[in-house]
Amino acid sequence: MKLSKDNFSEWYNTVLEEMDIIDLRYPVKGMPVYKGWGFGIMKRAFGILEDLLEKHAHEPMLFPLLIPEDNLRKEGEHIKGFEEQVLWASALNPEEGERKLAIRPTSETAIHPMLAYWIRTHADLPFKMHQTVCVYRYETKATKPLIRGREVFWNEAHTAHAGKEDCERQIKEAVEIYKEFFKSLCIPFKLVQRPEHDKFAGADYSIAFDMLMPDGKALQGGTVHNLGENFAKVYGLTYDDEKGEKKFLHQTSYGISMRALALLIAIHGDDKGLVLPPFVAPIQVIVIPVFFGEKEPVIAECRKVLQELKDKGVRVKIDARDMRPGEKYYYWEGRGVPFRVEIGPKDIEKKQVVLVNRLGEKTVVPQEEVSDRILSSFVHLTEKLRGRAEAEQKTRTKTAKDLEEAKALMEKGGLVELGWCESEECAEKIAEATGAELRGTIWGGKEHKEKCAVCGKDGKLAIVAKAY
Ligand SMILES: [Zn+2]
Repeated sequence: MKLSKDNFSEWYNTVLEEMDIIDLRYPVKGMPVYKGWGFGIMKRAFGILEDLLEKHAHEPMLFPLLIPEDNLRKEGEHIKGFEEQVLWASALNPEEGERKLAIRPTSETAIHPMLAYWIRTHADLPFKMHQTVCVYRYETKATKPLIRGREVFWNEAHTAHAGKEDCERQIKEAVEIYKEFFKSLCIPFKLVQRPEHDKFAGADYSIAFDMLMPDGKALQGGTVHNLGENFAKVYGLTYDDEKGEKKFLHQTSYGISMRALALLIAIHGDDKGLVLPPFVAPIQVIVIPVFFGEKEPVIAECRKVLQELKDKGVRVKIDARDMRPGEKYYYWEGRGVPFRVEIGPKDIEKKQVVLVNRLGEKTVVPQEEVSDRILSSFVHLTEKLRGRAEAEQKTRTKTAKDLEEAKALMEKGGLVELGWCESEECAEKIAEATGAELRGTIWGGKEHKEKCAVCGKDGKLAIVAKAY
């Protein structure tokens, strides 16, 4: 099928199916099967995230899937945010009777009660953990593959601190970790503080990474929540400070889901299919023998290059299938493999190979330089993809001076910045006038003081976008 990214929705669904990302035929709606290529990309992306978290002293842990009903219900605000989406498991045990257990919609209520056993004094703090698991939310809204599902693959981190200050410091560290993560995926973002009426259930405030999708809509790619003392008060989580006084813990939680895979696919892909940044590609280099006569010498030469690249730690494969080279190019381009090495009889004669990157840039490289050239090309291609994506986001971000202009700009989609006084009333008026959502105020960096586009009172620069 001929792909065209101009029709983004069709392009996205076709790519997911044809490039072995997921299979939607699993008989529970909103729970796709991740196929080899799709999960291979995701595994590498989450590997980068896990490494970053562990570099910043988050311990990998694994909590159970099931949460006792009373633990889940304890935090009233929190459960309100999830109640209708919780899936329940119940079992009848002759000794315990019937017990209702929630399948985690997120893990705060699984993790926090355990902290009471582990944290006694300020010397036990900070506590920092992360886990890569699935959480379950029985969405009533329409599901969209890798964007809104009922089984959510994610990495969640949870931390506890002595005092507000250390908790604020952790929020900044989490934001830096996520910035670094999205930078390594070449995915640009806008960092916003969600409006009070749209924060995580039970949080003091929530910060979100919003990304611009090719269809002009925003997608939340990650969130960081300051939980303050809210959960600690509910679960009775205290510690003894330096003076031996009992204090409540300050806590944070943050997460990134399989949407990271959706973003990689959507932001970098083109009319040929996927385009993968080299560091997340399951195969980074595909070696393609180009025969005209005898096969064996060409294959032998390809094997030599393969081995050399393997020795340097490159994920590389030979495609020696009985197909025309052109068909193979098409196949691997569709899957987004960053580099292709072509070797034919003439190249062997000249002791060279042809190196082509996924953006179609072709160079002839002396054979002895092949592995060095490829390694440096990884960096070059990564920077190019990042630059391209950033330029796209920049072009499609506009600033409006009033509601009228915001409305006109919103018709073309993209991100619109405008002043907002942080009241829910004005947020509703902005949403009504533009047919889009107020995503929040720009977070971090310099303070952006702006007059509210609705009421004219002092406010901050906010982002408006149609959203998934
Ligand atoms: Zn206002």
